[in-house]
Amino acid sequence: MPGFEHFGKEEIKEVNDVLETGIMMRYGFDGPRKGIWKAKELEQAICETFGCNHAQLLSSGTAALTTAMSALGIGYGDEVILPSFTFVASFEAVLSVGAIPVFVDVDDTLTLDPEAVRNALTAKTKCIMPVHMCGSMADLDALQAICKEHHLILLEDACQSIGGTYKGKKLGTIGDAGTFSFDFVKTITCAEGGVVMTNREDVYISSDGYTDHGHDHKGVDRGADLHPFIGYNFRISELHAAVGLAQIKKLDTFLAIQKKNHTALKNALAQIPEVSFRRIPDESGDSCTFLSWFYQPKKQRKLLLKN
Ligand SMILES: *Cc1c(COP(=O)(O)O)cnc(C)c1O
Repeated sequence: MPGFEHFGKEEIKEVNDVLETGIMMRYGFDGPRKGIWKAKELEQAICETFGCNHAQLLSSGTAALTTAMSALGIGYGDEVILPSFTFVASFEAVLSVGAIPVFVDVDDTLTLDPEAVRNALTAKTKCIMPVHMCGSMADLDALQAICKEHHLILLEDACQSIGGTYKGKKLGTIGDAGTFSFDFVKTITCAEGGVVMTNREDVYISSDGYTDHGHDHKGVDRGADLHPFIGYNFRISELHAAVGLAQIKKLDTFLAIQKKNHTALKNALAQIPEVSFRRIPDESGDSCTFLSWFYQPKKQRKLLLKN
C-alpha cells in the first residue's frame, strides 16, 4: 500500500512550512529560513525510526544506490553480484559507477540464492547487493557470512521493503550501507526521493559530498565550502523532504494496514491447494507491502511434462 494513498493535511502542513519561508533549498539561507530544515529533520527521523547512525537524503532511490556505491569505493571494473529478479534501477546504478553487474539466480525467497552467489564469485567481485524484493528480505545471515569470508561489501537495496526487519534489525541498516526509495509508489513517498543509510561515518561523509558537487558542508556559508572530491547534484529539495517528513510519522499506521490486508488475503489464498507462498527468512519481519505466491495447477504441470 503506497503512502500516496494516505496523503492528507499533515503533508500539506509540512509543505506549507517551507512555502511560507520561500526557502526551498536544503542548504544555506540560515536567516530567511527561520529555523525550517525539513531535509535535516527527515534525516534525523530516518535515523531514529530505522536505527542507523547516518542518513543522507537524495533526489531518488537510483541516485541513492549510485551514491552508496561511489561512497563504498565501488568503481570501474568491479563486479557487483545482484539478483536476476530485480528492478532496473539496481543495475542502472552499478553501470553508472563503471562497475559490472553480475546477475545470479533467486531461490524460493525470490531474493539472492546464497549458493548461486558463491558460484559467481571471482577475483573481481567487490560487492554483494541483495534486493529485498516485494516487501520481504534476503537471507542476510548467509550473505553476510559470504561477505565476511571473502572481504566483500554488503549493500542492501531495500527500496521496496521500507519497515521490514530481519532478526530485529530494520532492512537497509544491516549491510555496509542500504537504500530506500521514496518515489511516488513506495511505502512512504517524498513524490521523488531516496536515502542512503549507513553506520559507517566514512560512507556517510562521502555520500553527503557526492550528492552535492563534492561540497564538504563545513564552510561558514556555502561559498566557503571545500570540494575534497568530485560529486554530482543528487540533492533533495525542502518541498520533497517536507512530504516525506509527514509520511514517516505515519509509517506505523501504513504498516499496520498492510499487515491486516496481507493476513486476510494470505488466509484466503491458502485455501487453494495449488497455491504456495514464497519462503521468508524471517516471517515476522515481512513488511507485508506485497503478497507473493506461486500457482502450480497439477493438471497443467502434467500436460507440460508430457509434452
Ligand atoms: C523503486 C526502486 C528503486 C529506485 O528508486 P527510484 O526512487 O524510483 O529511483 C531501486 N530499487 C528498487 C528495488 C526499487 O523498487
